Amino acid sequence: MNTDSFNLFEKGSLGTCWYGKYHYIEPWAGCAHDCAYCYARHRSVVASKLSENGNAFENPALLFPIDLLLEKIRDGIRENNVKILKLSRYTDFFTPSFVKDGTSAAVLETLCETPVERIIITTKGAPDDKIFDIMRKYRHKISYNAALKPESGYKLEKGAPGTVTRIDAAAKAHALGIKTTIHMDPLIPCMDILENMPPFFAELKKRGLTRLMFSFLLLNEPIIASVQKTLDKAAMEKLLGDFNLSASRKFLPKQDETVLYSINDVLRKRYSEKLGEMLSMEGFDFVICSLKSNRGEADTRPSNCPACDGTFYA
Ligand code: SF4
Repeated sequence: MNTDSFNLFEKGSLGTCWYGKYHYIEPWAGCAHDCAYCYARHRSVVASKLSENGNAFENPALLFPIDLLLEKIRDGIRENNVKILKLSRYTDFFTPSFVKDGTSAAVLETLCETPVERIIITTKGAPDDKIFDIMRKYRHKISYNAALKPESGYKLEKGAPGTVTRIDAAAKAHALGIKTTIHMDPLIPCMDILENMPPFFAELKKRGLTRLMFSFLLLNEPIIASVQKTLDKAAMEKLLGDFNLSASRKFLPKQDETVLYSINDVLRKRYSEKLGEMLSMEGFDFVICSLKSNRGEADTRPSNCPACDGTFYA
């Protein structure tokens, strides 16, 4: 069964956090961050939308002309009675071209002016000053989740700003009084080596960024093929060697395309416990993502990492 669809507003899927008590917004199709491991570009609803719109995934295009888009957003919030809104499932809201031309700012301001109660932004991008002004004004409505990890020798996010820029943006959001969380996602143990974590955590702490969640890379055949184009043979073999490719599972009950492979249980547990040790020692407030990492697998759950119940992320 596949209940997935691509609309401007879509209800959260059963099986994700809050069990459908939130909505997503997809104001455009595509994302210029062009991550090699992106799951969104391979979803059939995204592919159909791209073919309908006539743009490549890495060259995002609006679903409607901007004025009409903003009008549809105002109407859609009211008609769908949207209270909690996530930005976004199939794109990054701060995709560079739309930050630069003011589209992200215009959409965010429009959303903030509606009765929506909570706007949850998860991004590998960086807002500009205009967006920060809007975030400052509506700080009580916004959660800012900065997806970032320590620099490694691998560049899997071709079009996204680097770690330093993303930490700066997160620190600025935090300084504005916005609930800010670092989301280490997707962790890839052979690239995100544990030895690199202590200086990274020290830097976050220095910047006041002590809320953190983490989750691991998941793979399917199309994602493997994309990542393969970016890594050399040895690196790819190492990465795949950490996965259990003989067992996949469906992560969202009603979405057939969420059947994915995970990092093998022993490695995932060992790596998570080490992270848990470091984060506890440094006094972080942290969780492991329960959906992507350990739901229903009590024996592989790291003993020292609390699992996110949805509210941490909000
Ligand atoms: S930022 Fe997210 S949506 Fe954009 S390419 Fe990367 S994984 Fe895909």
